[in-house]
Amino acid sequence: MYSKILSLRFPKDIVNEPITVNLVKEFDLSFNILKATIYPRKEGIAVLELSGHRKNFQKGVRYLKGLGIKVESIGQDIKRDDDVCFQCGACTAVCPTGALYIKRPEMEVVFESEKCSACEWCVSACPARAMSVKFNKGLLD
Ligand code: SF4
Ligand code: SF4
Repeated sequence: MYSKILSLRFPKDIVNEPITVNLVKEFDLSFNILKATIYPRKEGIAVLELSGHRKNFQKGVRYLKGLGIKVESIGQDIKRDDDVCFQCGACTAVCPTGALYIKRPEMEVVFESEKCSACEWCVSACPARAMSVKFNKGLLD
């Protein structure tokens, strides 16, 4: 089983397509929608965990891209400003996926963007405002 958290940016002309149904029926993939902001006749964005056989996963992503959807690993949208982060560890207490954790014995706060689900809990938990989520800013303005 292959699984990855992806952000999908939809052009406005296809937001009404039965895309998730096709992912299940045509490619035998399962998905878990973590976040979605899609308005009729406007661009939209969704964050989902897509799972299945690796080959089907790749076919499914090709299908999405063929529809004009921009598909990216969610890690490309969540950033930590390492110049600002002072390693306090507060974010690790709220991160539900283990993307932020304390590496021992170094006691270093590590951010593994591949595990991030874009819940944004760390953004408000961080006293230094080091964490930022950029994917839904600007697209729907
Ligand atoms: S947005 Fe922050 S708290 Fe949420 S999963 Fe990603 S790193 Fe963890
Ligand atoms: S809460 Fe902010 S400052 Fe503290 S370790 Fe996490 S990212 Fe760094």
